Formats: sequence, structure tokens, C-alpha cells
Amino acid sequence: MKKYNFNAGPSILPKEVMEATAAACLDFEGSGLSLMEMSHRAKNFQPVVDEAIALFKELLNIPEGYSVLFLGGGASMQFCMVPYNLLEHKAAYLNTGVWAKKALKEAQLFGETVEVATSAESTYSFIPKDYEIPADADYFHITTNNTIYGTEIRHDIDSPVPLVADMSSDIFSRPIDVSKYALIYGGAQKNLSMAGVTFVIVRDDILGKVTRQIPTMLDYRTHIKGGSMFNTPPTVPIYCALQTLKWIKKMGGVEAMDKLAHERADLLYAEIDRNKLFRGTVAKEDRSLMNICFVMNDEYKDLEADFMAFATERGMVGIKGHRSVGGFRASCYNAMSVEGVEALVKCMQEFEAMH
Ligand SMILES: *Cc1c(COP(=O)(O)O)cnc(C)c1O
Repeated sequence: MKKYNFNAGPSILPKEVMEATAAACLDFEGSGLSLMEMSHRAKNFQPVVDEAIALFKELLNIPEGYSVLFLGGGASMQFCMVPYNLLEHKAAYLNTGVWAKKALKEAQLFGETVEVATSAESTYSFIPKDYEIPADADYFHITTNNTIYGTEIRHDIDSPVPLVADMSSDIFSRPIDVSKYALIYGGAQKNLSMAGVTFVIVRDDILGKVTRQIPTMLDYRTHIKGGSMFNTPPTVPIYCALQTLKWIKKMGGVEAMDKLAHERADLLYAEIDRNKLFRGTVAKEDRSLMNICFVMNDEYKDLEADFMAFATERGMVGIKGHRSVGGFRASCYNAMSVEGVEALVKCMQEFEAMH
């Protein structure tokens, strides 16, 4: 049976991306060696990193003065690297979910922090909008897409201080104005690659301003100078990311990804709003196009396990909601086809007809 992969992360990738990566793991470009057993300093591997960086710059229209890095450690490592490198006196955070809160917690180790606003009391069901960013903060940190709760800041906000964004789960899903950000980071395993590589886009001139000593490996300047090769980078995940970037370009770039994201989300949210069994969990104006969360209406609560089994039998994978929200979450990253969402909608309609 055809499976539709709605996993939140690691998550769906285009089939051709996986085929190309699998092929390189057996024989890298006819070299007779597997990508897994090659030096990251091999002459034929350097072009992989170079091309991935070039495509990052091209697809996101990254201006001069920014570096693109491929690191280990996940987005979670960035929660500490960001304040290590940027927090001298004070940092401001918008607390819109578990990941945002974890980022804030790490920053507290390095200096004064300000939580400018939070929606924690309402299970993070909306994005706070009335807040002030302290003009004397070293930076302002946001999480553009809240993977667990299904809310999203799907536009580039204005900040009076350097803006830092965790874009783990919506990078490359829409055009962004990179010039509005000082630093963008994310784990690749949501919308870009397999697990194991972390991307960072950093404006070079914000670095070198803190007075503390920074361990070599945690200093962004180390990796800028080393071209992401200071130590051994995750070679296979970088290769996989490159295949995804090529696929995005072939599909029409981030504009095309944005259009598809709207198409998928419009379909699914329309069904959630129409279907008597289900309802969405977050404020409509803040609905994520990437992670679509919904629960059973109160009078049908006891049907939850039945619907899960019904949908699973029809090929839906990974639609169980995060334990902190319950219900269902359909993650609709770039590689999810409109047909996949249509299949889920059909499940919801058939299940409704049975009740
Ligand atoms: C998954 C996720 C993280 C954590 O990523 P790791 O690579 O596992 O550290 C951080 N932020 C967001 C928004 C995420 O979706």
C-alpha cells in the first residue's frame, strides 16, 4: 500500500533525493568508493559543499556579507551557540513553544534575558503580537515555525535589534528577506535533509563583539574560516541536503514551495473546519502551513483511537499529535504531495460518513 509520510521530523524527502543519496552511498559519482568511506577533504567532495552553499545563496537570495555553515549538533546546539557568540549584556526571546523555551533557557546561562511575550498559558495556541523588543538587547530570538503546536510566523518581522531565527521546520518553504535577519539556523531533518546536519546563515559583522572566551568548536568564526571543514562535517547529510536543494530549484524555487504549501494547507484546514468530527487547535491567523494540528471535537473524543487506526490502515503515517497537544498533527513539508493531503482528507470524510 502507498504510504503517506506525515512525520514531524526526521520526515519526508523527495524520492529522487533519497535515490541519489543511496546511490552515492554505494558508489560516489563513479569513484568506486562509497560516500560513507571517503575523506571530507577529498577533491571530489569539496564541490558538494561548495554547490550546497551556492544553492543556499541562490535559492534564498542571500545578500553579500553572510556565511552559510553546515555543522553538527542539531538546532539544539544552536540554542547555546547563539548566546555564546552574541549575548554580551541582554537578549530578548519570543516564547512561542517548547523549542523557543529551550532556546531561552540556554541563553539564561550567558547573561540577562527578557521573555518579551509568551502564549504558554494557552498551550502555545497563538503567536503573541503585542510586545516590545528592548532597544538595548544584543539580539531578538524567534522561532518562525512551532513544529509541535502548529503555529507559524510566516513573514519577516521588523526588529530594532539583530534578529535571530530558528527556522528548523519552515526553511525553504517560502521566500525570505534574509537581510532582515542577523542569523538563521535549523536542524536539517524537517525540510532539507536526513538527520545529522545543522545549517546556519550568519551575517559576518555581528560576530566578534562579545568579550568572553568561546571554545573553538562553538565559535562561528572557526567554521567560517574553515569553510565548514574545521572538523569532519556530516558528509552524507550534506550530500542529501544538496540533492534537496537541486530538487527545490528544479521545482521552481522557494516561490513554488510556498505555492504548494498554501495549496496543501488550504485543503487540509478547509476539511478540518468543515468536518463535524474535527477542529483545529490554534488561532486561525497563526496557523502553520507546515505542521497542521487538529483534534476530535469534544462530543467525538472517544473516536480518536478509531480514527488513528482507520487512517493508518489507509497508509497515513506519523499523524499522531505531539504528546503535549494530543490529537493529530499532519506535517506537510516541501516533499509532501497535494495528493497525499487529498488522501488524508478522504480518510477524514469517509470516517465522518461512518459516524
Ligand atoms: C526539531 C526542532 C528543533 C530541535 O532540532 P534538533 O536538530 O533535534 O536539535 C529545534 N527547533 C525547532 C523549531 C524544531 O522543529
